[in-house]
Amino acid sequence: MPGKKSIYLVEDESHIQQLVKYNLEANGYSVSTFFSGEEMLSRCETDIPDMFILDVMLPGIDGYEILRRIRQNTNLKALPVIMLTAKGEEFDRVLGLELGADDYITKPFSIRELIARVKAVFRRSEQPQEVSQSVLSAGGITIDSERHEVVKDGKKIELTPKEFELLKILMQNRGKVMSRDVLLEKVWGFDYYGETRTVDVHIRYLRQKIENDDSKPEYIETVRGIGYRFI
Ligand code: CA
Repeated sequence: MPGKKSIYLVEDESHIQQLVKYNLEANGYSVSTFFSGEEMLSRCETDIPDMFILDVMLPGIDGYEILRRIRQNTNLKALPVIMLTAKGEEFDRVLGLELGADDYITKPFSIRELIARVKAVFRRSEQPQEVSQSVLSAGGITIDSERHEVVKDGKKIELTPKEFELLKILMQNRGKVMSRDVLLEKVWGFDYYGETRTVDVHIRYLRQKIENDDSKPEYIETVRGIGYRFI
């Protein structure tokens, strides 16, 4: 059916595969299932979906490796990815987000949660025009990339070029956790790779300028062990 969003699910446990497929299809999505990443990636050579849902532990290449390959593939890299992780695998979550997963769901999960996450990720990914817009606005803060200007509640805020870039990237990815490494790469370039403390220092300066009370940030949230999120 035209207009139906297509989702590729890689999951080696057939009962979870069927459960996810059944419920997503009942919610109007078209779902193709795969038992391995290799099988799914070879399908992508001819047919590209609108979203991927990847289990982590799989025979053959694991979910992280699939994610890595998706993010390196010109035709696939912009597509949303949700990871399925097992309970208690804290490291998985960090690594998944570092590699560019849009969200993750911990097994066992409820169907309601699954559907809500899929809908939310589609909603977020369907606003690409927001990313290229030169003016972004959220919570009383407006950032104008062309004029290089930040205004909060009608007052102009002076930011350094790095603070400006940092704020811009966080606002463009509003609601999404941005890891320190990703921020470092986008704002400072690869040369500084590993110097993640630089990010923390600049976030601190940025908060002093944009937050009402920088000890209780309302705009830039710290996500423990990962990075920051503009809320
Ligand atoms: Ca598995």
